[in-house]
Amino acid sequence: MIDLRNISKVYNPKKHNEFTALDDVTLKIEDGEFCAVIGKSGSGKSTLLHIIAMLDKFSDGDYYLDKINVGKASESYASKYRAKNIGFVKQDFALIEDYTALDNVMLPLYPIKAKEKHRKGLIALKKLVMHKYADKEVRTLSGGEKQRVAIARALVNNPGIILADEPTGSLDSKTAMEIMSVFKQLNDEGKTVIIVTHDQGIAKLCNRVIEISDGKIVAG
Ligand code: ADP
Ligand code: MG
Repeated sequence: MIDLRNISKVYNPKKHNEFTALDDVTLKIEDGEFCAVIGKSGSGKSTLLHIIAMLDKFSDGDYYLDKINVGKASESYASKYRAKNIGFVKQDFALIEDYTALDNVMLPLYPIKAKEKHRKGLIALKKLVMHKYADKEVRTLSGGEKQRVAIARALVNNPGIILADEPTGSLDSKTAMEIMSVFKQLNDEGKTVIIVTHDQGIAKLCNRVIEISDGKIVAG
């Protein structure tokens, strides 16, 4: 379970450009939920997602992830937990364009044998119906195909939690729906899925909509 208690995030504390991006956020997300985080640009959505993923530190409050007090956990615990349990789909894919689809998907794999990496990478691509594109360079793929590769990469360690930052933001509406059905399928398989979006239509496809405004949770 994701359990945030009175979390605040202040960028550039005590400097002239100090900015409170999250203000006293208390939020519980149970295992297996399918949530959207919605809010205007600059409202704190990405900051929240990065804190949930332990990619960013918070300034105040407590964060319990599977009952572990993350604020007190070591950096190495956080990175190991993240690698095993959290798949993060970054905004605008964040793929290496001149690597193949398979090479991109294999990037987060532990130091394991090349053959095993190939096997796991192909399983992840197959789940996204992208195995036929394994050896294609990413720059030759369409937007929707790139997003599938990015999701395959997030899934390659079989994490229980999938976090996606504006995963449909740069896709046409038909492709966006296809990508949302991929997230729905992952949730049906039992994964916790949290999608950041500023699109109400996308949010409606999730089971819970958490709304954030000026760093505060205002609904959900
Ligand atoms: P959203 O994803 O909802 O658009 P963000 O979480 O990216 O919002 O940002 C929330 C606010 O925090 C914005 O005003 C943004 O300018 C500010 N912010 C984000 N990252 C930083 C940073 N590294 N340093 C200073 N301010 C930041
Ligand atoms: Mg953002």
